[in-house]
Amino acid sequence: MKTERKGGRKTRRSTAAAKTKTKAAQRVFEGLGVSPGVGIGVAHQRESGEIQVLEYQVPARRIPEELERFHGAVARSRRQVAKLVAKAERFHGAAAEELGYLLEAHLQMLKSASLIGAIERRIEDTRCNAESAVMSEIGAIVENFAAMNDPYLAARGQDVREVGLRVVRNLTKTSYTGFGQLEPNSIVIAEEITPADTALMDPRQIRGFATVLGGAEGHTAIMARSLGLPAVLGVTGLIGGAKSGDTVIVDGSNGRVIVNPTARCLADYGRRRKALEREARSLTRLRNVPAVTRDGTRIDLQANLELPRELAQALAAGAEGIGLLRTEFLYMNRDDLPDEEEQCAALSEIVAGMAGRPVTVRTLDIGGEKLATSLGPHVSEGLNPALGLRAIRLSLKRPKLLETQLAAMLRAGVCGPLRILLPMISTVYEVHEVRKCLHKVARRLKRRGVKIADPLPPLGVMIEVPGAALVADSLANVADFFAIGSNDLTMYTLAIDRGEEQVAHLYNPLHPAVLRLVQFSIEAAFRARIPVSVCGEIAGNPRFTPLILGLGVRELSMTTNALPRVKSRILRLDMQAATQRARTIMDQSDSGRISALLDDFNEAG
Ligand code: PEP
Ligand code: MG
Repeated sequence: MKTERKGGRKTRRSTAAAKTKTKAAQRVFEGLGVSPGVGIGVAHQRESGEIQVLEYQVPARRIPEELERFHGAVARSRRQVAKLVAKAERFHGAAAEELGYLLEAHLQMLKSASLIGAIERRIEDTRCNAESAVMSEIGAIVENFAAMNDPYLAARGQDVREVGLRVVRNLTKTSYTGFGQLEPNSIVIAEEITPADTALMDPRQIRGFATVLGGAEGHTAIMARSLGLPAVLGVTGLIGGAKSGDTVIVDGSNGRVIVNPTARCLADYGRRRKALEREARSLTRLRNVPAVTRDGTRIDLQANLELPRELAQALAAGAEGIGLLRTEFLYMNRDDLPDEEEQCAALSEIVAGMAGRPVTVRTLDIGGEKLATSLGPHVSEGLNPALGLRAIRLSLKRPKLLETQLAAMLRAGVCGPLRILLPMISTVYEVHEVRKCLHKVARRLKRRGVKIADPLPPLGVMIEVPGAALVADSLANVADFFAIGSNDLTMYTLAIDRGEEQVAHLYNPLHPAVLRLVQFSIEAAFRARIPVSVCGEIAGNPRFTPLILGLGVRELSMTTNALPRVKSRILRLDMQAATQRARTIMDQSDSGRISALLDDFNEAG
C-alpha cells in the first residue's frame, strides 16, 4: 500500500492502482548516434555530486592567475548554460517555458557584476583560492535568503547555489560523481559527460549513455566507441524526459533514445542486440587473417588505445601494433601528476604486452575539450580552448611535463619497439625543440646508468593542424613519421568544433579542403620516404577505407572495436579500383558529389 497526501488529507490506494496511473508512455528522443550498438537498461540520471573543495592560500604574486582561472570557469559556465538555453528554446509547453526562465536566470547570475565582483574581492582580499571564494560567497547568499523566511527567496538561494557549484565544477574540473555505485545494467543519462567521466565507466555495469551536450567526434564519443558502449549525444529534451528508474534503450547506431519502451519495442531491440552480438562474434574469425586486398596489397592495421585496460581487447582483435597511445589517461581523474616511475611502469606494461609489435606513444594532448584535473592551474582554458595552450604547446611551455614523459618513454622503449608521437604540431621549430629535449633527457638517463631505448625511438608528428599539412614537406624533413589526425584536421580546417552538437551536421572529413590537406601530407611523406598512417576516426570507418587506401596510405590505426569491420572491407577491396576512385574524388570540388562517389563505390562491392 502506498500513502500520499491529497488536499491536506491522507489517502490510501492500492499499489496496483498507483501503477496503472503512473505507467508512463513510450517516448522517443533523437540525437547523435556516436557509438554504435544497442544498450537496454535502467536509467540513472546523473546529478551533480557533492564537490570536495580544497581551501588554500594563494601567494600575492599569483592572485592575477587565480582571478584568470576564476574568469575562465565563469566563461565556461556561461557557455554551458547558454547552450542549454538554446536547446530549451526548441521545446514547447509550460515546462519548457519554466526551464527557459530558470536557465535565463542562471545566465544572468553568471553575468552579474555584483556576484562576480564579490567573489573577485574575496580572492584579492583574503588571498584564498577561487573555489573556496565561490563557495564562501554562495554560502553567504544562501544564508541571507534563508533568513528572510520567504519560500520564493529560498528557492532563488538554491539557484545561486546551483550556479556557484557549476563554476566550482569548472574550476576543479572534477565534474560529477563517479559511477562506482551504479546498479548493473544502468544507462547513464546526464547533461554532459566528459572524456574523464567516460574513462571511469565499466562496460560490464553500464549498458550505454545519453547526454544533452556533446558532438560526434569529441573525445567522449571516441572513448565510448573504444569501450564499446552504445551512446547518443546531443539529445534535446533528455533531462526531464527520462528519470532514474525508467527503462531506457540507447540505440547508438541510429541516434535514438527510447524511454519506457513498449513491450514490442523492447522485444524488437532485444533481437537487434542479439544480432549485433552474433555479427561481432562472427567477425572475430578474422582475427588472425592478414589484412590484404583482393589484388594483394598488405595493409597494416593497428589499434588506438585510450586506456591500458583495452590492451587485451586490441590483441584479441589482431592489432598489429598500437598506432596511437593517448597518454591523457595518466592525468585524468586525479589531483596529482604522474611521476616518471608511474608513467614508465604504465607504458612498459603496454609495450611488453604487445610482444614485439610497435607501440606509438603520443605525448600529452591535454587542453581544449580534453581537460585533466591533475594539471589544474597549469591549464587555463582561455577564451578559445581549442586554439589555446594545449598539446605540444603546453608541453613546451612546461618542460618538466615533457621531460618526465620523454624519460618514461625512453625507458619503456627497452621493452619493445616504441615510437614517440607529437600532437598539434604546427611548426618545424616545435619538432626541433622536442628533439633537443629528447637528447638532453637521454643523456641524463645514460649518465645515471638507466637503460633506455637504443637507438633512440623515432620521433613523429601528428598532422592535424591545417598549417602543419601545408608545411608537410618541411615537417617531413625533420620528423621520422607522420600520423594524420583527421579529427582535429577536419575541425580546424572547417572551423567546426568536433565536440559541439549544434554544428555536428556540418562536420565533414569529406570536405575537399580536408581531403586536399590529407593528400598533400601523404605525398610529402612519400617524397621524404617516411612512413605515414591515419589515426583519426575516419581510419576506423569502413566507408572511408577505399579512399584512404586509394590515396596511398598503407597503415591505419583505429579504435579496437572497428578493426574487424575495416579488415573485412579491406579483404573485399580491389586496390586498383580504389586508387582510380580516389583520383576521381580528388578532382571534385563538392563534398556532396564526393560522398556520392564514395558511397557508389562501396555499394558496388
Ligand atoms: C585526431 O585529431 O584525429 C586524433 C587522432 O587525435 P585526437 O582525436 O586524440 O585529438
Ligand atoms: Mg587530435
